Amino acid sequence: MKISDVKCHVLVADDFDPGLTSSAQDSLLVVVTTDEGIEGYGESDLNPWIGRACIEAPGTHTMGLGVRELLIGRDPLDIESVWNDIYTYTAMNGRRGAVIHALGAVEMALWDIAGKAAGKPVWQLLGSRRDTPVVPYASLQPGGKTFEAYRDALCLSADKARQLGFRAVKAECTMAGPYAHDGMNESHERHTDLVAAVRETLGPEIALLVDVQYVWRDAETAYATVRDWGEFDIYFLETPIWPDFLDEHAKLAKLVPFPLASGEWLSTKWEFVDLIERGGIGVVQPDVGRVGGIGEARAVCGMAAERGLPVVPHCWKTGVSLSATAHLAFATPGISFIEYLPPQLCIEKLRRELATEDLVFENGEIHAPTKPGLGVEINWDAVKAYGQP
Ligand SMILES: [Mg+2]
Repeated sequence: MKISDVKCHVLVADDFDPGLTSSAQDSLLVVVTTDEGIEGYGESDLNPWIGRACIEAPGTHTMGLGVRELLIGRDPLDIESVWNDIYTYTAMNGRRGAVIHALGAVEMALWDIAGKAAGKPVWQLLGSRRDTPVVPYASLQPGGKTFEAYRDALCLSADKARQLGFRAVKAECTMAGPYAHDGMNESHERHTDLVAAVRETLGPEIALLVDVQYVWRDAETAYATVRDWGEFDIYFLETPIWPDFLDEHAKLAKLVPFPLASGEWLSTKWEFVDLIERGGIGVVQPDVGRVGGIGEARAVCGMAAERGLPVVPHCWKTGVSLSATAHLAFATPGISFIEYLPPQLCIEKLRRELATEDLVFENGEIHAPTKPGLGVEINWDAVKAYGQP
């Protein structure tokens, strides 16, 4: 079998708003086709125009070859070799960042093809199993421009997530800092008030994950706010500090009574070496597309397992990425939760409309997918409706 075509769909929801803190308003959907008529689907969480350019740009020299050109004619089942060749021969433009994120979408599509060719779900091809359920957490980013509106919307969603049966909820406390939602700039005390309100809404039984999205730049300032958050019994605090300030991150990790989580933006296992060795990280968060694909995410999970660290993959995207993340989890014992954007509780049209995944959510768990490949059905009407030239 040979790869005969690679198509990149740039998708942007018609109601997108660049001021909102949600990267699920767009999608880079990659479709890899083979000469045997099998189609594989992949997706990555980066600006889709940039992602398309990373894949479609022709090569100009030995270490700056084109991703699409490197794929055409290759055996799609030769996933690791294809990945290594693209990683190597795009190195002067890639190695990290956007090219690796785009490569993640390509690699995801190759696994989809491999599963479809074998007639098996991808998780069964990954070579290991888990004997505990895959538990998704409801990832909640509310709307609202004022503190009161934001808090009430978040608590309402948290309550709905509880009623839907989620055993874990993540509160996006994104009211200040570079990632601030819709121009908000609330005090750090109000971040504490917000976490308290969500914990009260959930009650003591549901795991509470908190994401403050890089609001602080140093450990001392962060600690002044989060020193008492132990009383909220949080499972982790995500990205309290800007990701390049690893020493400050490590300093904060030593001070607080809960683990710090990070890694959503990183590409390749090599970036995770720094985060794990220097950053004092307590929970590892690769994003399957951004890190470079399922294989690279597995390498990160292996590094985490060697150090006894749990993995909670990041995934703020459509059913394509969510499926890839779930397949990874079904083959990886160290994944404690997976991120899940509940379609019932999110505003993002692409999450709701682009793909139907083979993931049945029941009693707070996801059943193991059974369809071949990633088990994703693409809604081509949505591709047409949101597709960009
Ligand atoms: Mg985050």
